[in-house]
Amino acid sequence: MDEYGNSGEGRATRRDEAVRAAVEQGLLGPDSPIVGLLDVTGIRESAAELRAAFAEVTAPGTPVLHAFAVKATPLVPVLRLLREEGIGAEVASPGELALARAAGLSPDRTVLDSPAKTPAELREALALGIAVNADNPQELDRIDGLVRSAVSRSPLGIRVNPQVGGGSIGATSTATATSKFGVALRDEGAREWVVRAYLDRPWLSRLHAHTGSQGIPLSLMAQGVAETYALAEEINRRIGRPQIDTIDIGGGLPVNFASDATAPTYAEYARALREAVPGLFDGRYGLVTEFGRSLLAKHGTIVARVEYAKSAGGRAVAVTHAGVQVATRTVYVPGSWPLRITAYDGKGRPKSGPEVVQDVAGPACFAGDLLAEGRALPLLDQGDYVAALDTGAYYFAHHYAYNSLARPGVYGFVPDRATGVRFATVRDPQTLASIVAESGGAHAGALTTLHTPGSR
Ligand SMILES: *Cc1c(COP(=O)(O)O)cnc(C)c1O
Repeated sequence: MDEYGNSGEGRATRRDEAVRAAVEQGLLGPDSPIVGLLDVTGIRESAAELRAAFAEVTAPGTPVLHAFAVKATPLVPVLRLLREEGIGAEVASPGELALARAAGLSPDRTVLDSPAKTPAELREALALGIAVNADNPQELDRIDGLVRSAVSRSPLGIRVNPQVGGGSIGATSTATATSKFGVALRDEGAREWVVRAYLDRPWLSRLHAHTGSQGIPLSLMAQGVAETYALAEEINRRIGRPQIDTIDIGGGLPVNFASDATAPTYAEYARALREAVPGLFDGRYGLVTEFGRSLLAKHGTIVARVEYAKSAGGRAVAVTHAGVQVATRTVYVPGSWPLRITAYDGKGRPKSGPEVVQDVAGPACFAGDLLAEGRALPLLDQGDYVAALDTGAYYFAHHYAYNSLARPGVYGFVPDRATGVRFATVRDPQTLASIVAESGGAHAGALTTLHTPGSR
């Protein structure tokens, strides 16, 4: 085990203890059959590892802003915890910006990147002084207008797509030839357009690319950063001064969903980048990073009760409370997003015994709602619990309201000498009243009062 526990042993032990404590302390039980758990110790470790990895490769004094991609885990207490760990926020919608502000993130620690910013969003970002990366020429036109009409402290840049290619998962590959993000750099005339955009606008001081997320090999990510760096160098050379002073390299470090080990690590990625793009780290450029999944995924666990254990066509099926509502990608695209599942008994203790191939099903009313199909696990019984691991990013914080299933409560935990494990509420479980309210409850008669003309 290295300094940061990258083998994941500490993490697995903390997780097992948290599951048992959640049952003992009544967070989990017959009336509260699903929760999301967040390992606060692990989140702090990952944040420290990220800071240390880039501190090791950058020249002393280089400004580095690590902006957490809020979309990965849009929970205010998580953003506040990361703020305390020196991590800012990358936001991509008015909602995400509101969450970052509620967590107390200051404008100079916030970056706005969405592909569909409205004029009002751009105006607000510039008024607040938040960094903005323009996605395309039309957006840059809008920013031109705002820059002419009011003074802003916002660092401004352009997002480019280096078009270096995709990874193993199409939906998270952002640097394909036809990706919807940024200015497609290899398209005819595009590179020259970008250079001119900077020549004409002395206030454009940043350059941004995010080459992809889960499924992208490190070498491709490094290539995307290298192309972005080369463009910044070309622009500054043509302008004759270092107008671009900061390069935003995006996020996208892949996460290992196959074991508790952290792989690749931030340190490995930072070293690979320094090898591929040494000039990026010599102190001439400030850096922004936008990691999401790699900061949170391994620190979240969904735990759900087995409501019924049955058998169908010779297959054992555990019907649990975790399915498509908390693991949407896994249920719909299981080949790309498999999750590890562990079994616990009714007291929350790791379950042992001979492994049996079984299905771990969710509560939703369609046949494909399976957290895992044909998985070898100790045979699950009614009243046992299952845990879906590595679900701290893009899972339980991304509720999907199928069957009007309630959003589960989310609790952070730390080891505690007195009680074993201490929990804090991150998000309350959703109430039935809230489900009704969010489903038009205040407008129950709205449609019956609309009449087709002439029909009475
Ligand atoms: C989604 C996204 C990120 C974060 O990606 P991860 O794979 O979660 O690290 C960073 N930057 C941008 C622009 C994104 O769209």
